[in-house]
Amino acid sequence: MDSESLKSELAKFDLIELKGEPFIIDLMYAGTRNIASFAAYEEIGLGNRAFVHHQVFENLTKIVPILEQNHLKLCIRDAYRPPLAHILLQKKVAIPGLFAANYQLSNHCHGTAVDVCLADANGKLLTYPTETDAYSDEIAQAVRKGNFKPLQENLPKARHDYMQAPYEALANRSFLKEIMEDNGFLSIPHEWWHYNLKGFEKYPVIETELF
Ligand SMILES: [Zn+2]
Repeated sequence: MDSESLKSELAKFDLIELKGEPFIIDLMYAGTRNIASFAAYEEIGLGNRAFVHHQVFENLTKIVPILEQNHLKLCIRDAYRPPLAHILLQKKVAIPGLFAANYQLSNHCHGTAVDVCLADANGKLLTYPTETDAYSDEIAQAVRKGNFKPLQENLPKARHDYMQAPYEALANRSFLKEIMEDNGFLSIPHEWWHYNLKGFEKYPVIETELF
């Protein structure tokens, strides 16, 4: 499906494409550098395109002046996740706490969640206690061999109450939380990068014929 038809089809579900400055679109599951080592979005034909519910779009737009004032960019690591992609990922990494066992439970599949991190004016990611999804090349390699232990050991560092990281990493995590929460998003305790739209409960899962 060409770029514009995908956009107009998803618009029927209130999904808007997020792109352009000061956003950097770098979806984890568009490529293989993710915990499942699997390019799920490429596989299903979504690619590196970030679609979000229009309310998420509006809230992120409110953050733009704050980013500009601070010479920062917002890197989008995940946005709307088609249920098919979720099912494929969940099969690859079937450990509790990363991909919800049922896609209905993932706000990404409702278009009401984003995985984000801040980057400097040159697009270089700021430091955090972990990478998004608590990823590292070594962990992904272990997961490929069916060893989930290194991943599970790294997950506590993804929590907002993990305080053993360098000061700068903690400060970046907390600044990101502040700007997201001030603009209509809710944090979750166990993933510093994940934000749900406030009031997400009222938005249905988005299942399309496209994927
Ligand atoms: Zn997420």
